Amino acid sequence: MSSPTRITHLIAGAPWTGTAERTSEVFNPATGEVSGVLDLASQQLVGEVVATAKQAWQKSWGNVSLAQRSTVMFKFRELLHRDKERIAALITAEHGKVLDDALGEVTRGLEVAEFACGIPTLLKGGFSENASTRVDVYSMRQSLGVVAVISPFNFPAMVPLWFVPVALACGNAVLLKPSEKDPSATIAVAALWKEAGLPDGVINVLNGDKEAVDALLTHPDVKAVSFVGSTPVARYVYETGTAHGKRVQALGGAKNHMLVLPDADLDLAADAAINAGFGSAGERCMAISALVAVESVADELVEKIKDRMGKLRIGDGARGCDMGPLVTGAHRDKVAGYVEAGAEAGADLVVDGRTGQYDADGDGFFLGPTLFDKVTADMSIYTDEIFGPVLSVVRVASYDDGLELINANPYGNGTAIFTNDGGAARRFQNEVEVGMVGVNVPIPVPVSYYSFGGWKNSLFGDSHAHGSEGVSFFTRGKVVTSRWPDPSHGGLNLGFPQND
Ligand code: NAD
Repeated sequence: MSSPTRITHLIAGAPWTGTAERTSEVFNPATGEVSGVLDLASQQLVGEVVATAKQAWQKSWGNVSLAQRSTVMFKFRELLHRDKERIAALITAEHGKVLDDALGEVTRGLEVAEFACGIPTLLKGGFSENASTRVDVYSMRQSLGVVAVISPFNFPAMVPLWFVPVALACGNAVLLKPSEKDPSATIAVAALWKEAGLPDGVINVLNGDKEAVDALLTHPDVKAVSFVGSTPVARYVYETGTAHGKRVQALGGAKNHMLVLPDADLDLAADAAINAGFGSAGERCMAISALVAVESVADELVEKIKDRMGKLRIGDGARGCDMGPLVTGAHRDKVAGYVEAGAEAGADLVVDGRTGQYDADGDGFFLGPTLFDKVTADMSIYTDEIFGPVLSVVRVASYDDGLELINANPYGNGTAIFTNDGGAARRFQNEVEVGMVGVNVPIPVPVSYYSFGGWKNSLFGDSHAHGSEGVSFFTRGKVVTSRWPDPSHGGLNLGFPQND
C-alpha cells in the first residue's frame, strides 16, 4: 500500500504551498484504502483567494476581447480532449465508477467547453437604429466579476464543466469548490486552463467543506453561486446566498421515475432500467430509482430485469466491470440500510445486492444491485433519494395513476416514458411536472446548447445550467440609449423622455 498523496488547492495557476489547519481523507473506493489527504480551506484563505480572483478579473480577464476569450476556449477544448483518458482514470480512482462511464462524463463536459467556444455569437446583443428620432438603442451583456461553483462528488469532471467554461467565456473569474470526496479530477481539469492561456488567478480551486462554502456564500465580492448537491444543502445554499445579495442557481437531489406503458418494447425498457438504475452504482442525479410499471406488464418486465441483473459484473472500475463500488464506506452502509428497510417494510426483494462476488482487491465499498417489486409510495425506499444501486418497481393500474404518482413526488429532475404510442408520449411530456423528460430515453441529460435543470425540490433558483440560461446567469444585461449631438436638438425639456 502506497502512502496517501497530499491534495491541495490550485491558486493563481499553482498548487498552494501553505499548511492547512484541517485536512480530510480521500479513498480509493475499489480497495477501501486512503489514497489522499486533502487540504481544507479556512474562511481566511477563501477571503484571500476571492481577492486574487477579483484582481485578475479587474486587471485582465474582465477586459479581454471576445476574440481572445474564444481562443482560450478552443485551446481548452483541445487540451481536455487530449487528456480525457487521464482524467477519466482519476475519476475512477476516487469516485469508483467504471472507466467507460468516467470517460462518458468527461465527454459530456467537453460538450459544454465546445458550446463556450461560440461565446462571440452567444453574447451578441440587439441594436435598434433610430428607435426614437436620431436615437439608437442597443443591449449588451457584461460579466459579473467573481463567481463560485460548488460541486458534488458524483460527477467530479462533468458538473464543474457545466458551469466553468460558460462563466469564464462570459468574462468572469471563478472559484471552484469541488467535493472533498473526489477532488483530483476537478483539479486536473482546472489546471488545463493555464495551458490554454487563461491568465493566472482567473480560475482557482479551493478544496473544503462547510466552512469554505459558508465563506463563499457570505463574501460580498462573490457575485453568483452555481451549486449542485443534495436538496437540503441546495436549499441552504440558495437561501444563504440570496440573503447575501447573490444570484444563485442551486441544483438539488432527485427521485427519477420511468413509466412503462403496456405497449412498450419491454426488452428496450428492461435494458434501459438496468443502465439507468445501476450505471455509476446509482450515484447519478438522473438515475432511475422508481420504475413505474402498468400492472399488466409488470410481471414480465420484472422477470426481464432480474435476468439481466444476473449478468452484471461488479468490481474495480479499472478492470472492465459493469458497476463499481459506492463512493465511501459510510455511503455503502447507508444504502444497504435502505435495502434492509425496504425488506422490512414488506416490498418484494427480488434481487438482494447485499450478497455477491466482487472483482477487486482489498476491502472496497461494494454493494451489488438490488431490485424491489411491489413498492408502495409510503416506503422509505420510495420516498427517499437513496443514491445507490437500488431499483424499486411501483405497480400502477394505468397511465393516469402513473402520472399522478410522478407529479405528487417532491422532486422533479428527470423522468422517462417507455411506450410505442406517440400520443401517450406527447401527453406525458406535456403533463409531467419534471424539468427533463425522456421518451424511450432513460437518462435525458440535455445536450450542452440546451439547459440542464430540474423542477421543484431539484432546483432552487430560476436558471438552469449551460445553454442560453447559463450565459444569461453569468452575465448582466445593460441597455444603452444614445443620441449624438445634433445641431437641431430641442433645448431644455424637463418632461419624461418620450419616443417620437
Ligand atoms: P452534498 O450536498 O453532500 O455536497 C455537495 C457540495 O456541498 C459539496 O461540495 C460539499 O462539500 C458541500 N456541502 C456538503 N454539506 C454542506 C453543508 N452542510 N454546508 C455547506 N456545504 C456543504 O452532495 P453530494 O453527496 O456530494 O452529491 C450527491 C447529491 O447531489 C445527490 O443528492 C444528487 O442528486 C445531487 N446531484 C444533483 C444534480 C442535479 O443536477 N440536480 C447533479 C449531480 C448531483
